[in-house]
Amino acid sequence: MALVVMKFGGSSVADADKMKLVASKITAKKNLGNKIVAVVSAPGDTTDDLLEMADKITSNPPAREMDMLLATGEMVSISLLSMAIDALNEKVISLTGPQAGILADLDHTRSRIKKINPKKIKDLLAQNNIVIVAGFQALNRKGDFTTLGRGGSDLTAVALAAALDADFCEIYSDVDGVFTTDPRLVKEARKIDYISYDEMLEMAGSGAQVLQARSVEVAKKFGVTIHSRSTFSDKEGTYIISEEKIRRQKMEELLVSGVTFDKNQVKFTIIDLPDIPGIAANIFGALAKIGVNVDMIIQSAAVDKKNDISFTVSKNDMKKTQLELDKISPSFESARVVCDEHVAKVSVVGIGMRSNPGVAAQMFALLSKKGINIEMISTSEIKISCIVDKTDMARAVEELHKGFKLGKK
Ligand code: ADP
Ligand code: ASP
Ligand code: MG
Repeated sequence: MALVVMKFGGSSVADADKMKLVASKITAKKNLGNKIVAVVSAPGDTTDDLLEMADKITSNPPAREMDMLLATGEMVSISLLSMAIDALNEKVISLTGPQAGILADLDHTRSRIKKINPKKIKDLLAQNNIVIVAGFQALNRKGDFTTLGRGGSDLTAVALAAALDADFCEIYSDVDGVFTTDPRLVKEARKIDYISYDEMLEMAGSGAQVLQARSVEVAKKFGVTIHSRSTFSDKEGTYIISEEKIRRQKMEELLVSGVTFDKNQVKFTIIDLPDIPGIAANIFGALAKIGVNVDMIIQSAAVDKKNDISFTVSKNDMKKTQLELDKISPSFESARVVCDEHVAKVSVVGIGMRSNPGVAAQMFALLSKKGINIEMISTSEIKISCIVDKTDMARAVEELHKGFKLGKK
């Protein structure tokens, strides 16, 4: 008898028919002799709709109340899904994140799981229940709801799989698995059979929405194998596993495994900053203090004791960043701040880069062949990212996907 954690995203429980399909998939797996814990997200676009509703009330909602609001989305799913399973005459019970024993830190809207107390789930499983758990939410030590950041149900599922020592962690979505790039943008995108944690982490962190980056981090830490697959077919999906396992199976090591993009970026440039020690520490220290995650940073060479610094942040942090820069700008002397929303990030990811120099040059050549201007560049051991104009993004992704020969064979 295996213990399986199955996670269904918002697109899989968007309406009553889909909810019933998910209920039948869960019961079918149970009837094969497995114990099942199913994690669900809020139906369809519920979380976005809730955020929009809050925005119509105030531009500065208290973070605690925001989490109270967002947590309601997943509670709609767990109760309805449990009703659908009950209608199939299966023993089932729904639990909120707090009821499931998921404990988090005091941060709101992107809190981190500190501990899971799985006793209640274990007892319910022992009593032959299918246990349905609300994704994305947890309890802090003040007794309040917190949420785990967008896409956080993936994290709930992986963390539960680790805490319960589950045999399988299946993440069901509306695509067949992890593709070489978003199949909605590039028709030639190919499903990847196996991918390493590190590559998946870089892909998720640079825009591949199919898995939340933090869930992959936790899977790597606890050695949880994730199977990313479709709710709407029975095809094998993508297994996210360790690099050693990939090497042991002598799988083909590609130079580049995937191409990602992120439209959710804005670029700030501070022009004519005084070229003195402490300026960068001042700017990025202030942004870190208010919880803004800065992605790429470039600084130009100083001319006449002045230089420019450009950096990117997520669009969600744009207002916060602007307000903070206004606040600290007296220390910039005559420097000006410019904000550019017309940018996007395109990245190529692959463990093959570690042993093969020249991928960056090849990427730049492919972009230049299409006349695409690169505004910023950043690299890690297995990823190269470029900021380009938003209108060039789709062409850039297609060209890189083709240029690195990632399409269907
Ligand atoms: P869920 O609602 O199940 O959480 P998401 O919308 O979060 O699903 O993630 C699935 C979506 O991720 C797909 O519909 C697809 O458009 C998008 N996506 C982006 N990049 C990739 C990729 N490389 N492989 C697969 N899907 C991707
Ligand atoms: N409902 C949350 C979101 O939309 C969590 C999730 O879907 O994983 O971000
Ligand atoms: Mg998701």
